Amino acid sequence: MKINKSPWIHQLDHTRKPVPLGTDLDTDIAIIGAGIAGISTAFFILKYTKHRVTIFEQGKLAHGATGHNAGQAIARFERPLYDLVDEFGFKKTKNAIHDLRSTWALLDEMYTDANLNILFSRVSGFRGFSDLNQVLEILKDLEIEHMAGLTPNKMQIR
Ligand SMILES: Cc1cc2nc3c(=O)[nH]c(=O)nc-3n(C[C@H](O)[C@H](O)[C@H](O)COP(=O)(O)OP(=O)(O)OC[C@H]3O[C@@H](n4cnc5c(N)ncnc54)[C@H](O)[C@@H]3O)c2cc1C
Repeated sequence: MKINKSPWIHQLDHTRKPVPLGTDLDTDIAIIGAGIAGISTAFFILKYTKHRVTIFEQGKLAHGATGHNAGQAIARFERPLYDLVDEFGFKKTKNAIHDLRSTWALLDEMYTDANLNILFSRVSGFRGFSDLNQVLEILKDLEIEHMAGLTPNKMQIR
């Protein structure tokens, strides 16, 4: 078996034992899975509503994909935007781009509210192009972002 070298899992409490649910439990909202999706969902429900939340985790907190990720949050789709427009239409793509961009604010909010004292930095990345087609593709995407009323992410072309 491979040794797990994830720095996130390394920081977690390994002595905490899972507690099986012994009796029926009354809750407003049950969340299955204590990865980033479950934890952040619980965070915003608890912050903005009066609902009681219970998270059920079959293993350990953040030991799934969340505990193994590379720690990068990149606000872009893996598929070109014009491809998404072709499949889902302009309106849905526009909404998806807006949602994606707003995730920064959500991360900031969790980080600030939790009073975290861990490295959280923003960087403007470089984007490399190796042929003319890639340049033309990004120009098409920039046009869609412009039509969606968004300022394109700062880009530096090398
Ligand atoms: C090697 C690697 C690198 C990555 N790098 C990045 C990155 O740099 N940036 C990025 O944004 N994303 C990255 N990802 C993807 C990212 O980590 C995942 O998309 C994200 O963590 C998924 O979170 P999740 O909460 O949906 O799932 P998980 O973190 O997997 O959490 C799901 C939880 O649900 C529990 N569960 C499942 N079924 C049940 C059940 N029936 N009952 C109770 N509990 C259950 C599991 O035990 C688990 O703890 C990476 C992923 C990997 C594997």
